[in-house]
Amino acid sequence: TLISTNTPTAELQALDAAHHMHPFTHNAELGEKGVRIITRADGVWLNDSDGNRILDAMAGLWCVNIGYGRKELVDAAARQMQELPFYNTFFQTSHVPAIALAARLAELAPGDLNHVFFAGSGSEANDTNLRMVRAYWQEKGQPNKNVIISRWNAYHGSSVGSGSLGGMKGMHAQGGMPIPDIHHIEQPHWWAEGGDMSPEDFGLARAQELEKAILELGADRVAAFIAEPVQGAGGVIIPPATYWPEIQRICDEYNILLIADEVICGFGRTGNWFGSQTMGIKPHIMTIAKGLSSGYLPIGGSIVCDEVAEVIGNTEFNHGYTYSGHPVACAVALENLRLLDEEGIVTRVREDTGPYLKEKFEGLTSHPLVGEAKIVGMMGSIALTPDKASRAKFEADEGTVGFICRERCFANNLIMRHVGDRMIISPPLVISKPEIDMLIERAWKSLDECH
Ligand code: PLP
Repeated sequence: TLISTNTPTAELQALDAAHHMHPFTHNAELGEKGVRIITRADGVWLNDSDGNRILDAMAGLWCVNIGYGRKELVDAAARQMQELPFYNTFFQTSHVPAIALAARLAELAPGDLNHVFFAGSGSEANDTNLRMVRAYWQEKGQPNKNVIISRWNAYHGSSVGSGSLGGMKGMHAQGGMPIPDIHHIEQPHWWAEGGDMSPEDFGLARAQELEKAILELGADRVAAFIAEPVQGAGGVIIPPATYWPEIQRICDEYNILLIADEVICGFGRTGNWFGSQTMGIKPHIMTIAKGLSSGYLPIGGSIVCDEVAEVIGNTEFNHGYTYSGHPVACAVALENLRLLDEEGIVTRVREDTGPYLKEKFEGLTSHPLVGEAKIVGMMGSIALTPDKASRAKFEADEGTVGFICRERCFANNLIMRHVGDRMIISPPLVISKPEIDMLIERAWKSLDECH
C-alpha cells in the first residue's frame, strides 16, 4: 500500500506500532496509546494528522532555531544536490560547501576557535572530541593524561563514547557505559540540590568539585572537562553566576582542556551565537549540531582552537565519518547561518523577544504549582512543586506530575517537555510576541489542569 499523509491516522498508528522503534520511548506503551503524527510545519506551528495546529515550544528537539518552512533552505539543498550531492573530505579532497562553512564558523566562533572537524550529529562530534583530546595529550608526550571529567545529568549524546561522557544514569545502566577513564562530578542544580546554601555559594561549591576531582585523580591524568554551558536535556539547569568563572579558573590553573558542548546552546539559543559567550567562558573545543542547520539536515562538528588543531595536525588523526562535511548539509547550514545573521535573529533574541519571553515566563511563578522559572535567551524551565518555600518534591514518584503536565500541554496543542518535575521550553528563535503570549496562556491553562 502507498502510505501518505492522506492515510487515516489509525492506520498510520498501527503501522508505526508494528514497525517503528522510537528512541528514548517505552514502545509497547506508546503503541497502545497511539502515536501523534506530525504532517507539516511552518514558523513555530506543527500540523498533525487530525488537523490540529500545535505550538512547538521545543523547536523540534531544541534545533529548529530558524523556524519551520524556510524555502531558502530547501532551495540551498536542491541546488547543492544537483551540483554535488556527495563527496568525501578524507583523501586529499575538499569541496566548496565544507570550505565555506568551516570558514564561516571560524568567523562566528569567539577567540582562536578557527578549525572545524565535521560530523553528522552531536553524538558523533562528542566522540570526535573524546578521541581528539586524548590524541592531543598523547602527541604532547603525556599519554596518561586521558581522563575526561563530565557531570552527572549531562547529556552529550547516545553513542557509547558520547553516552559515557554524558551523566545519564538510566543510559549507563543499559549497555556497557561509561567506558573507562571518564569521571563524573555533581551538577550545579541549586533548586533540587542546593539545600540551605545560597545559589552563589552553591555554584562555587559545585565548581570546586572539579578541583577536588583533579587533585584526587592527579592533574597529570586529567585531559579535559566537558560541559554544556547550560545543561539542556538535564532540565535546563542555568548555573548560578559563580559557577562558570570558577570552572574556568580551575581549567586554566591545572592545564585542563575545556570542551563546551554547544549542541543546544549554540546558534542564538542563549541570545549570543554561542552559550560560551553568554556564560563568559573560553573553551578549547566547542561541540556543535542542531541549530547549525536548524535541524533541516543532520550535521554536527567540533570547532577547535589553534593550539589543539596544530598539535592534532602534526599527526594523522585516525578518525572521521562518511558524512563529515556532507556537501548538502553544509550548504543548508551556511544558508541557515546567513538567515540567522541577516535577519538579526540572534540580536532579536538578546534584545527584544528574549527579554519579552523572560518577563512572561518568570510570571509563571505566580502559579501555585510553580517554584522557580528560569530562562536565558530562549531556553527555560520551571520547577513544579507542592510547596515553593521549602522547594519540596511531590509525594508521587519523581516525574509523575511533570508527565501529567506535559500531557495536558499536548492536549492543549502546546509542545513542552518534562524532565522529572521540571517543564522546559526551547522554542524556535523566530517566535513572535503574540505567539509568546499564546505559549504562556497554554502553559498556564495546562498547569491549572494538573491540580
Ligand atoms: N550534546 C547535547 C548538549 C545535546 O543536547 C545533544 C542532543 O540532544 C547531543 C549532544 C547529541 O546530539 P545528537 O542527538 O545530534 O547526536
